[in-house]
Amino acid sequence: MVENERKDDNTGDSGGKSPKKLRVLLRTFGCQMNIRDSEVIAGILIQAGFELRQSEDDADVVILNTCAVREHAEEKVWSEIGSLAKRRTKHEARGTQNEIRRTKNEARGTNEVHSPWSTVHSKDARDQFCEAKKVTVTKSDSHLSARTENREPRTASPIIGLVGCMAKNYGQAAFTRSPFVDFVVGPQDIAKIPEILQKLVHSQSILRQAQDCVVDGRQNRETKDEARSTRDEKEIEARSIKHEGREGDRNRKQENTEIQRTKQPSSILFERKIWETDGLTRPEEIYHSGFRSDTKKAYIVISEGCSNYCSYCVVPYVRGQLRHRRQEDILREAQEAASKGITEIFLLGQNVNSYRSVSATGAEGDFVDLLEAVHALEGVSRISFISSHPKDSNTRLFKAIAGLEKVKKSLHLPFQSGSDHILKSMNRGYNSKYYLELAREYRKIVPGGELSTDIIVGFPGESEEDFQATYRMVEDVRFDSAFIFKYSPRPHSKAVDFSDDVEKHEKERRHKLILDLQKRVSLSARQRREAK
Ligand code: SF4
Repeated sequence: MVENERKDDNTGDSGGKSPKKLRVLLRTFGCQMNIRDSEVIAGILIQAGFELRQSEDDADVVILNTCAVREHAEEKVWSEIGSLAKRRTKHEARGTQNEIRRTKNEARGTNEVHSPWSTVHSKDARDQFCEAKKVTVTKSDSHLSARTENREPRTASPIIGLVGCMAKNYGQAAFTRSPFVDFVVGPQDIAKIPEILQKLVHSQSILRQAQDCVVDGRQNRETKDEARSTRDEKEIEARSIKHEGREGDRNRKQENTEIQRTKQPSSILFERKIWETDGLTRPEEIYHSGFRSDTKKAYIVISEGCSNYCSYCVVPYVRGQLRHRRQEDILREAQEAASKGITEIFLLGQNVNSYRSVSATGAEGDFVDLLEAVHALEGVSRISFISSHPKDSNTRLFKAIAGLEKVKKSLHLPFQSGSDHILKSMNRGYNSKYYLELAREYRKIVPGGELSTDIIVGFPGESEEDFQATYRMVEDVRFDSAFIFKYSPRPHSKAVDFSDDVEKHEKERRHKLILDLQKRVSLSARQRREAK
């Protein structure tokens, strides 16, 4: 097992006491894929010796597993980081006041002992503290740390990690957006999180020891000069960080590696900020840690990434090209879940209908083959899946839904727009006539089956006529439920270059009209079901 011990804050070692495990709070934003990713992260952290927590009050690390698909979801994450930062600043300011009070008391010859560590943000407070105590502060970014000797321990501020799709989208620029973010890990790199945390904790420990010394005037001055020059370098670097996409991230990563290689000893400071966003794939084993947040339902990822490049969507850029897990690996995971009493298997992919498996023996299989294989597993009594793409859906799939007893009689089939011109601009790969026929086919083959969808209103270039085509589609198909979104441009997606020309109030009007219509349709669908 990897060692992950929270060292005694006072001494930098365990001081003879039994070591405490690092405690992690995981917060999840976004879709089922992210819920599963958080379970995977939790599983590998537990395997590596970390402990999970429910509240930030007793967490050493807070990980936010994020979604970049909608602007609104991103805003929630930045706001969450803001609240964590506020708590951290208050917490740290309290620590600083204690330090200053203690220092003054000591100067007066009292022995009153307060907390041992301070992490300070205010320059005045820091200078006041250093001046009084001759303690060198060498941290160059906003997490300025200082320590004096022989103090009783105090809980340190939590490390904050940005993980998932937003992490990939922002890369190193996340540190500019919020200096409180300590590490950034993209969806393909989640297996590295335990190692990253170990590095950060190790760095902090070394930093604290290095910063800890109460030194004589000359040494103090020299170290201060080095701290100042390092801080200046970091500020220059921070100022130069822009959100330049993957290429920019890669270049800066190279630069950073260069700096880490060439600078001693202040190079250690750079390990205060780690970002890993360029991974291409995940090791299979991370799906088998056994950690599940639900005792009845197991989310199982069947494919990662997407190669459809719908023009409004950021998924292919943040989760990478479509990769399929092998059918035997998926079945092994489903069996592991079933052996623990889990009865529902929920298969996940950005586009499950394009699933293709090539097994170790060279045998090929598609999504329906996979459904049949999961259906045959003992202990599994219910199977669901999401999402289906209309261009890859067909009667073979509908017949499997109808014919396989354990498969939920339900299909989520996003149509996005009823206008052919907008569908083309969205790069969806079908037109409205095709979608309508597909929906009718589904209704015919799966009688009574539920049908849900996603709709975007206010896409660039959407005229009133385009919108009316979407409205008619909702009237014609009569979905059981629908997720209706107002378009917002996403960085890195193709449509970010289109003119976002539908006014905000017009997007809101169209959103409300479709929402009201869908509410009426959903109500009558429910009443029809209940009447049967
Ligand atoms: S199918 Fe389109 S909308 Fe769905 S994840 Fe892939 S690119 Fe995004």
